[in-house]
Amino acid sequence: MQYDILTPRKIVFGWGRRAEVGELGRSLGRRGLIVGGSRTLKELPVIDVMSASIRSAGLDVVDLLPVTREPEVIDIDEVVAAIIGAGISDGDFLIAIGGGAAIDTAKAIAAMVTNRHGNSVQDFLEGVGKGLAVDRDPLPMLAIPTTAGTGTEATKNAVISSYDPPFKKSLRSERMLPDVVLVDPELTVSCPASVTAQSGMDAITQLIESFISHRATPFTRELCRRGLRGVFEGQADEPAIVRAVQQPTDRTAREAMSHAALLSGIALANSGLGMAHGVAAALGVHAKVPHGLACAVMLPVAMRANREVVSSDFAELGQLFSGRDIPDDRGAVETAIDVIQCINDRIGIPSRLSELGVRAEQIPDIVRSSRGNSMNGNPREIDDPELTTLLESCL
Ligand SMILES: [Zn+2]
Repeated sequence: MQYDILTPRKIVFGWGRRAEVGELGRSLGRRGLIVGGSRTLKELPVIDVMSASIRSAGLDVVDLLPVTREPEVIDIDEVVAAIIGAGISDGDFLIAIGGGAAIDTAKAIAAMVTNRHGNSVQDFLEGVGKGLAVDRDPLPMLAIPTTAGTGTEATKNAVISSYDPPFKKSLRSERMLPDVVLVDPELTVSCPASVTAQSGMDAITQLIESFISHRATPFTRELCRRGLRGVFEGQADEPAIVRAVQQPTDRTAREAMSHAALLSGIALANSGLGMAHGVAAALGVHAKVPHGLACAVMLPVAMRANREVVSSDFAELGQLFSGRDIPDDRGAVETAIDVIQCINDRIGIPSRLSELGVRAEQIPDIVRSSRGNSMNGNPREIDDPELTTLLESCL
C-alpha cells in the first residue's frame, strides 16, 4: 500500500468557533483582504462576533469584493490587476468567506497575485491554458465556508469558467491549499433551503465519487465512509441533509453536513472524482446549471452507470445508508441508488435535464466538455456514444 495525502495546514472545526477568526487571522498576517460571498460579513447577523474577534486581535481588514457568481476568467484578472495596482505588502493575506464560488475566487486571486508570469489566469488553467504553473506560493489564506458543500476549503484547485470560448477548468497546484480552514457549522444555518439542498448533494456526490474513484486510497475511503455515516447515522429515514433542509436550525444535521463537506474536500483532493462531476462541469458551461444542482441531478445517473463495476462498494453504501443488514448484495446496491434518488425527490432536486433548461441539441457539446480531470477518476471508461445515450435518456 502507498499513498500521498495533502491537507490544509490547520483545520478548526466546531459550532460557534467563528469567534476564533481574529487569532487565526493573526497567525497568517496583519492585514486580511476579504473575499466574501453574497451573504457578506456585514449582512449575516451571526457574524458580528467575527467582527469583534477581528477587532480585538488588532487585524486590519479590507473588503475586496462581494462574489455573486462562480468565478470567471475576467473576474479574477480584474481583481488581481486592482490588487497589484493598489500594492501588496508583507503581512497581507486573504480571508475567504462564503460558498464554493467565493472560496474558489479567493484561491485563484491568492495564486495569481504572486504568480505574475502570465497575462491572465487562463494561461494557467488545465487543458485550455498555456501550461503555466503556479510555482510561487500564493498569499496565505484563511478559508471560512458558509455553506456545507463543495469542500473547496480543503482542495488544491479553483474552478474557473469562461463562456466565450466556453469552458470550466481548474487552476490547480499543491501550493493552493488554504493554510487555515475554519468550519463553523452555525454559519450555514442561514443558508436558503435550495442552497442547503444543492450544496449538501454536492458533498454527498463528492463522498460517493471519491469512494469509488479508481484513484481512491484506503485513507480517502475511510474519510468518505465517515462523512456518509454522519449524514445517515441515527435516523436512516431522515438523513441529515433532509433535516437541514426542512429544519434549518437543527444543529446535529448542520454539523453532520459541514463535516461531510469538509471530509469530501480532503478526500477528493487526494482521490479525484467521477462521471457526475465530469458532466456537472459541462452542464455549468453549456446550460449555466449551478454546480451543486448539476451534481445532484447526475449522481443517481452516474451510480446506475457504474453499479456493475463497483457493486461491492455500493452494496456497502446500501447497508450504511439504510442502517440495516441487507443479505443480498444486489438488493443492497439497489438500496444505495434508491436512497439517493429518494433524497433528491424529498429536497426538490429535479430528475430530468430538461428541467434544468438543457436542450437535446446541446448534448454533443455537453459530452465533449465532460472530459477532464473529474471524468478520469470514474471507475470505468464511459465513451462518447455511451455518455450521449445516458444523457439523452435523462433529458
Ligand atoms: Zn463538487
